[in-house]
Amino acid sequence: MTYTKWFTEHSQKHKSILKTLSNKSKNEIIDYFTYENMRANHIDFCLLYATNTKCHNMKNLNCYACGCPYFRFSDDGIDLLKGRIVYSKCIKSLGSQYVSENAIHHDCSSCEVPHKTKFVSDNFDIDWNEIMNEVSIESK
Ligand code: SF4
Repeated sequence: MTYTKWFTEHSQKHKSILKTLSNKSKNEIIDYFTYENMRANHIDFCLLYATNTKCHNMKNLNCYACGCPYFRFSDDGIDLLKGRIVYSKCIKSLGSQYVSENAIHHDCSSCEVPHKTKFVSDNFDIDWNEIMNEVSIESK
């Protein structure tokens, strides 16, 4: 699956769930997106739910901002670095990188930032379309 396909499908799932929560407050919606509740009620939101595993072994893992707003990507590449195509990056320079012979992908596996309740609260009004637009601009 490409970055764009995953991101597009994920943001649509996110929006669909939000539509069903229109009667809830911001804090109630954030609570709703806790890993345990999402796994119980939206098994198809994340592939890991079906295996009862988490992307990060942390308490109070929140799934609202998965597809982190700091992540930038392009299936065509966003940069060229020492002969390798850079397909993704973190605009806050957190995490690390997977480097292969021809490609560099960003590695968020060590970063819990977008799964923390405070981060979700601070970035509650994420506009996924805006991120997609930024991605297209950066990759031109
Ligand atoms: S490293 Fe952390 S902050 Fe950066 S894009 Fe990945 S999850 Fe987001």
